Amino acid sequence: MHSTQEGGKLLIVDDKKDNLLALNAVLKGEGYDLIEAGSGLEAISHIENHDFIAILLDVQMPVLNGFQTAELIRKSKKNSNTPIIFLTAIYRTESYEKKGYDAGAVDYIFKPFNPDILRAKISIFSKLHRQQKEIQMQAALVNERSVREKENALLKESLKARDQFLSMASHELKTPITPLNLQMQAFLQMIKDGTFQAADPERLERMLMTSYSQVERLSKTIDNLLDVSRFTTGQMELQRGEVKLDDLVRKILSSFAEQLKSVGCEVRLEVQDSVKGFWDSFRIEQVFINLLSNAMKYGAGKPIEVLVREKDNKAELLVKDQGIGIAKEDQARIFKRFERAVSPQFYAGLGLGLFIACEIMRLHHGTIDVESELGRGATFIVRLPME
Ligand code: ADP
Repeated sequence: MHSTQEGGKLLIVDDKKDNLLALNAVLKGEGYDLIEAGSGLEAISHIENHDFIAILLDVQMPVLNGFQTAELIRKSKKNSNTPIIFLTAIYRTESYEKKGYDAGAVDYIFKPFNPDILRAKISIFSKLHRQQKEIQMQAALVNERSVREKENALLKESLKARDQFLSMASHELKTPITPLNLQMQAFLQMIKDGTFQAADPERLERMLMTSYSQVERLSKTIDNLLDVSRFTTGQMELQRGEVKLDDLVRKILSSFAEQLKSVGCEVRLEVQDSVKGFWDSFRIEQVFINLLSNAMKYGAGKPIEVLVREKDNKAELLVKDQGIGIAKEDQARIFKRFERAVSPQFYAGLGLGLFIACEIMRLHHGTIDVESELGRGATFIVRLPME
């Protein structure tokens, strides 16, 4: 066992006992922990167990000479950068000195050596080693602190996002419930009063339609929330099949005819036939419905253009409105979760539609982009691979 000395650990390697003794005598009392090895192989056996400040290595040894030993030391995990001082009595030619340096040595001392010089050199290595350790420790501390700070910031951000989300989601879920409640109460009152039978059927239908649209809104919000959680947990899978984009767009537009009329949006449709691909039709419908709903919401009372075409070997779907538009600085973030560029006072919404559209496009290896200027309408462009 070697006790740990302040100056650090030194490995001295020489096949001659006398030389080891001499080195020991020179370095003893300097505060180093001296570990001796009588051969290159023995030196290697110590290499992964200690962190040496320097290694004094005799060049001429049987089996593994000093240079070969140094090469193995350089490949070790613990001491690959440890300074090696070659000690030699005879190889006093430049090429041998060069050989020592190639093997990674930092110094080369010829025997008989001057004890003061050897001690001075080792003392410098010891100081360097200590400084290196301190720097490594400081770097690890700084690194740990910055990792912790980043983790804290992320945690704070995600807590804030969660709170924001909960408040938006509850608001969004609550909004349709209030009118729904009122309609139900009105129905009940009519039944209690006995006025239900005599009520105008058109009025009853209107009341029911209002309730129905609130239920629709509720279920759409819940579907969106479920989709977001599926995307976030990576559980969304596509059900691919052949999809004709022109058919899909026509079908959705006809199912939205009433709604389009009620918000005063006339649709101008331009379609190229046989733009098709191997996609998930339900999800592509979802993307188109999101874009169309946004065009009706943010461009109410103005015409909407829908274009289906093949361009550069891609299927393209464009939805262009003449509504409020989107400022340049908001155009990237609106595709992210919960991001909105309008006040909830004027426009209801959770900021999930474009995020979901973006995720669906990602799964299809497609893209979704926006071209817009504030106050000058917006064009959303979906591009899908045709194969
Ligand atoms: P939501 O409409 O529920 O807010 P979306 O993810 O569909 O969620 O849209 C995110 C934001 O992008 C909207 O809040 C709005 O600021 C902006 N946006 C989306 N579509 C349009 C559009 N056609 N015109 C103007 N702004 C739009």
